[in-house]
Amino acid sequence: MQSESDMSEYDEKKFVLPKSTKDLKACQQCGMVLTVEQWNREVECPNSCNASQTKLFSGMICVLKPSQSWVIRKLGNPKSIHPGLYAIDVQAD
Ligand SMILES: [Zn+2]
Repeated sequence: MQSESDMSEYDEKKFVLPKSTKDLKACQQCGMVLTVEQWNREVECPNSCNASQTKLFSGMICVLKPSQSWVIRKLGNPKSIHPGLYAIDVQAD
């Protein structure tokens, strides 16, 4: 019998998703997408970035397993980020 712990190499963090599709903003560092309301409440990015958020972004991907996502690696993000919605191209202010 195979142990289930062999299946998942990493423990994924809590899922963070925007609550609506209106008024979205992306973190300028990691690209995490949340609503303006959520950003106001969170104060800081769930991934602990020191960057501000911007409405100037294009493309979004849903990341289920950051530790296994090639897109996340391509974006230059660490594997320790939360699963969620990420902008593919974020423009700094
Ligand atoms: Zn961030």
